[in-house]
Amino acid sequence: MASATTDPRPISILKCARCGAANRIAPSPSGAPHCGTCGRPLPWLVNASESTFEVEVRAAPTVVVDLWAPWCGQCRFVGPILEELSRELAGRLKVVKVNVDENQGLALRYDARSIPTILVMCDGQVVDRIVGVLPKPDLVARVTPQLKPPRSAPVSKP
Ligand SMILES: [Zn+2]
Repeated sequence: MASATTDPRPISILKCARCGAANRIAPSPSGAPHCGTCGRPLPWLVNASESTFEVEVRAAPTVVVDLWAPWCGQCRFVGPILEELSRELAGRLKVVKVNVDENQGLALRYDARSIPTILVMCDGQVVDRIVGVLPKPDLVARVTPQLKPPRSAPVSKP
């Protein structure tokens, strides 16, 4: 049993953009992580692998998946933009980075023949995909319509 290498609840260290505190955060399908020190929403950016992808994309906020590789120059352009968005849209967006060299099954599954490929996901469903580089304002314009209200009220069941 190689259970030690497959943690179903991977812990990510998220640094607070306000106070700098490091927070240990596990994926959650509800809510968004807040800083344990100052209470601000945390920039939610994680690295996922084939074993953690499903649990990482099951998040309440809109998820942006960055299918990238270290050798890809355009990916090095898009990566920092997504980091900025995770800070600017803290609490409303989760960025999940997937290295396609290390996770070729996910690259195949999402047809990432050209990278960077960005998937916009809501509630586990792909609602938009962006192939190649977009300037930040264009990327924001594509992602913003998929964002949920800042504090969604509890869903009332009929
Ligand atoms: Zn803080």
